[in-house]
Amino acid sequence: MRNLSFYKRFSNTFGEYPSLSRFLVVFAVSGGGLVAYSEANNIQTGSKIDELPEAGSEKKRVVVLGTGWAGTSFLKNLKNPSYDIQVISPRNYFAFTPLLPSVTVGTVEARSVVEPIRNIVKKKNLNVNYWEAECYRIDAKNKKVYCRSSQEDKEEFVVDYDYLVVAMGARVNTFNTPGVEENCHYLKEVEDAQKIRRTVIDCFEKASLPTLSDDERKKILQFVVVGGGPTGVEFAAELHDFVSEDLVKLYPSVKDLVKITLLEATDHILNMFDKRITTFAEEKFHRDGIDLRTGSMVVKVSDKEISTKVIKTGEISTIPYGMAVWSTGIATRPVVMDFMKQIGQTCISH
Ligand SMILES: Cc1cc2nc3c(=O)[nH]c(=O)nc-3n(C[C@H](O)[C@H](O)[C@H](O)COP(=O)(O)OP(=O)(O)OC[C@H]3O[C@@H](n4cnc5c(N)ncnc54)[C@H](O)[C@@H]3O)c2cc1C
Repeated sequence: MRNLSFYKRFSNTFGEYPSLSRFLVVFAVSGGGLVAYSEANNIQTGSKIDELPEAGSEKKRVVVLGTGWAGTSFLKNLKNPSYDIQVISPRNYFAFTPLLPSVTVGTVEARSVVEPIRNIVKKKNLNVNYWEAECYRIDAKNKKVYCRSSQEDKEEFVVDYDYLVVAMGARVNTFNTPGVEENCHYLKEVEDAQKIRRTVIDCFEKASLPTLSDDERKKILQFVVVGGGPTGVEFAAELHDFVSEDLVKLYPSVKDLVKITLLEATDHILNMFDKRITTFAEEKFHRDGIDLRTGSMVVKVSDKEISTKVIKTGEISTIPYGMAVWSTGIATRPVVMDFMKQIGQTCISH
């Protein structure tokens, strides 16, 4: 993972300056970058977190928020038994995100891309507790994290820490576009991928019903992907392969009515990569019959239509759709933003 070597550097820094690092904030910005923050205190060099000397008879409490790439990597690298470690995350497993697009079409089963966090920590033979809950507030001054259980009762509790690892990742960025939250699928979590898989099949079943006109079938089989970054592009490609290799055989009566459209606001897809990759992907989509519309920004989503604006002309048009996947990037979680404010950090993504 491109972000993990970056993470490791920060992890090592934390190790080298244990007393200096009261907080380590690790979260993803713009698809894989990481930001870390440490609050300076008494500088002590030359030791890693695994080699920290015992300050007193009581074990230092390390709280880790999140069980994604950053949190799990941090846990896997811990060796020192002289800490009391508490892991808090609403997800009791680690998910291998690069394979999520394959989960949406069943090439890979969801169970193959997850690893229970309890298995991971059990192997460590350290004093680690896991709580299935989300942190909704961090009180940096009093070193407390406020948590809410993921169970139905949503019971709340407070955990004290000496060291805090904030590895809560990022949220989906909708840019406050009306209707996105209510009508679009995301592709960030394993559950998202499973929902997409069910919806694709539902669209094909619905379109195969005998009561519909071909126009209605076309609308149902119009799949729209919003965002030409790696996630949107990978998903569109997986969906195309799934449709052309498998679903055409299972649903021969509607196979010619399927359309996949990818909407991208800038002039090119994958524009964070080398130009040759962008060109290759665009040409491949063209050959595969994927309707690629660059310079096209989504301004509104209703339950049946997506409204887009052509950036150059300002012209608005609508696309009726059966399923829409929103993958336009990520933003900082409110709880992290609040924490950054408390410790005097400026947020670099919104
Ligand atoms: C479909 C897809 C494919 C990708 N492919 C690649 C790739 O090929 N290469 C690459 O480098 N990157 C890829 N990425 C990006 C990569 O997954 C992220 O950069 C990475 O997950 C960021 O790691 P993280 O630990 O910061 O956050 P995450 O992995 O998102 O983990 C966040 C954790 O925090 C938990 N959490 C959330 N809210 C709270 C809360 N309030 N309290 C406590 N815990 C909380 C979550 O449940 C989760 O366990 C991909 C992402 C996606 C979605």
